[in-house]
Amino acid sequence: SAPAPADPSSDSTRRKKIGIITSGGDAPGMNSAVRAVVRAAIHKGCDAFAIYEGYEGLVQGGHMMKQMKWEDVRGWLSEGGTLIGTARCAAFRERWGRLKAAKNMIVNGIDALIVCGGDGSLTGADLFRAEWPDLLKELVDTNELTPSQIEGYEHLTIVGLVGSIDNDMSSTDATIGAYSSLSRICQSVDFIDATAYSHSRAFVVEVMGRHCGWLALMAGIATGADYVFIPEQPPSATGWGDEICSVVSAHRKKGKRKTVVIVCEGAIDSDLNPISAVDVKDLLVDRLGLDTRITTLGHVQRGGSAVAFDRLISTLQGYEAVEAVLDSTPETPSPMIGIHENKLVRTPLVDAVALTKQVATAIKARDFNRAMSLRDAEFAEYLLAFKAINHIDDESLKLPEDKRLKIAIINVGAPAGGMNAATRAATCYCLSRGHRAFAIHNGFTGLARHGSVKELNWLDVENWAIRGGSEIGTNRNLPEVDLGMIAYYFQKFEFDGLMIVGGFEAFLSLSQLEQARSLYPALRIPMVCLPATISNNVPGTEYSVGSDTCLNALVDYCDVIKQSASATRRRVFVVEVQGGKSGYVATYAGLCVGALAVYTPERGISLSQLEKDVKFLRESYANDQGQNRAGKLILRNEKSSNVFSTELIADVIREEAKGRFDARTANPGHVQQGGIPSPMDRLRATRLAVKCMEFIESAQARDDRGAPDTATVIGITGASVVYTGIRHLVEHETEVENRRPRRTFWTRMSKISAILSGRPDAEL
Ligand code: ATP
Repeated sequence: SAPAPADPSSDSTRRKKIGIITSGGDAPGMNSAVRAVVRAAIHKGCDAFAIYEGYEGLVQGGHMMKQMKWEDVRGWLSEGGTLIGTARCAAFRERWGRLKAAKNMIVNGIDALIVCGGDGSLTGADLFRAEWPDLLKELVDTNELTPSQIEGYEHLTIVGLVGSIDNDMSSTDATIGAYSSLSRICQSVDFIDATAYSHSRAFVVEVMGRHCGWLALMAGIATGADYVFIPEQPPSATGWGDEICSVVSAHRKKGKRKTVVIVCEGAIDSDLNPISAVDVKDLLVDRLGLDTRITTLGHVQRGGSAVAFDRLISTLQGYEAVEAVLDSTPETPSPMIGIHENKLVRTPLVDAVALTKQVATAIKARDFNRAMSLRDAEFAEYLLAFKAINHIDDESLKLPEDKRLKIAIINVGAPAGGMNAATRAATCYCLSRGHRAFAIHNGFTGLARHGSVKELNWLDVENWAIRGGSEIGTNRNLPEVDLGMIAYYFQKFEFDGLMIVGGFEAFLSLSQLEQARSLYPALRIPMVCLPATISNNVPGTEYSVGSDTCLNALVDYCDVIKQSASATRRRVFVVEVQGGKSGYVATYAGLCVGALAVYTPERGISLSQLEKDVKFLRESYANDQGQNRAGKLILRNEKSSNVFSTELIADVIREEAKGRFDARTANPGHVQQGGIPSPMDRLRATRLAVKCMEFIESAQARDDRGAPDTATVIGITGASVVYTGIRHLVEHETEVENRRPRRTFWTRMSKISAILSGRPDAEL
């Protein structure tokens, strides 16, 4: 029942036989990577082989190396772990093992290998490539292979994908599986939080990470933990007990009822003595008298279906890996595919592995500053943010009196997951610097009609990191409701800066306030918009806080629907997705759930495309012979067409199916706003909010603090965090009538989604 590959023999002279291996510890998202590699390879006219059980399959050969067909990977996006197995293979560490592996590769005609694993697996892959010519020579010298058999196999192509839950690989911001694992951890800590609060207890939670504190630090920020132990920045050997006790008791004195400490399994002190969860528990009991329990999360951290982000990166990186195989020459170093912010990057695999190993070496040499510098810049920023939030009595962080500011925070538009985390982070940052933070309640109408402003203290926002919705209240009204009154209140409260958290309305609000500066001097203060909307349609950024929560809610919903469609066999669901006039959410979700077709407002829905999609459906059910178990989904953005409604599309499919299959509609509606915000939204909200405060501090120090660029939108574009003046964005980068950016950054995502679902002739 495989759809014909969209491009079955794009270039036969470059036809390759590509093997894919998953190796090391399993990680959620590995299956999506295998699916993407298999289908991208077939699409590009290559043969794809799954090597089972990691390098063991390569060493043993035979049935452990299996050519994969298009349908073999159907439904793999939602499966956890790795379906082609993984193993720690001692034989591959030995030359004789790699010799056998080389022979098996040639016997099967495989000349390229995509390895998805951690630094050990990628080290092995690189060694294999370096030794390849010698291995072939030995195989010929010992008559294991004939010279003609090795002809055309002189060079081995290797491409690395980083699949590892620890996020311990240098040269990439995120490894495949890390965010899924973080989600499991945060979910568990969120549960622990409730019981800790009820009994006013302390919990010490141990998480994975031998040489890398990424999971511990990010879980600490996302769950609002009090203290974290990570190997890159160990506390002093003699004073760590005093430090944690002073932080925890400061929090308790402020009125906090619970204490959560996250300990990474590789936690150490500055003399490299291990710090265990038991050590921390004993300390909290003996010194602070806290009723303390230990929770060791263990293998639950590895399990379960991949979150949206892992499905996305593994799919895009799997596709990119096949392109890298086809681009490679004997001279090019083996690449590793990684991601920086929102941009896929290729780095020489050897360099990435060498850098990664240097972290462990630096830690061993007690050169902790170097260990931190070898992690990506984001990691250091998160650590500073964590300290700013939690080390509330640290006088060294405070600014001199004359530099202290009064900063207002407002939420505008529909709620989005992470809005509260942004308010919390901004407030805590302000307090740690000696500033004061004020919440404007219920948006601009709250301010204009009621002057609703409340100063926030540390305890007010303490547990907001994990809360959905908007604690300070939000609505859609713009400042135009009463600019005069708004300016009056800005003057009355003497605000020195403003952070607006919200979606397209927040963006328009900033524009209105900026324009009104000529009339109202009180508005000539630094103002920054932090995009937060599930639609991800704010110009100036490729990521809005809340969009990841929405995607995860949608992916979970679609997985359930797909299962139902699969159980009833011949049923296709047409799912109506939010996003206003931006097709981002529909496209991204389509890629994560393997939708058969995605309809977006940018492209609209044409009769001819609908006809092709119905024909495609008919053919795939006709070829199916009953074994096609995976359900089919079509995602339609709510504003894709005024004529072809979700119901109409389902009706057309049903009519054209002539009883051979059925079509139903599904509408997740407000479920898409999500419940508890995803860890990624909580983290990015925290990081960006801290950056907004830093922006306000630095713009305040300028003489021209009413200049156009002091009213800005913070965003992530490509590999960077950027600030773009609102005036520039409105004039040059916005389709105001369609409420979306002019540039669509996700076109490539649509193409890959269509290719991997086998949708022929998609009008993209
Ligand atoms: P994780 O981050 O989950 O631990 P990993 O890839 O680092 O993943 P390892 O157990 O270190 O996990 O490596 C997986 C496999 O890769 C090993 O069992 C071995 O087969 C191979 N391998 C690792 N290091 C080397 C090496 N130096 N030389 C040859 N093969 C290696």
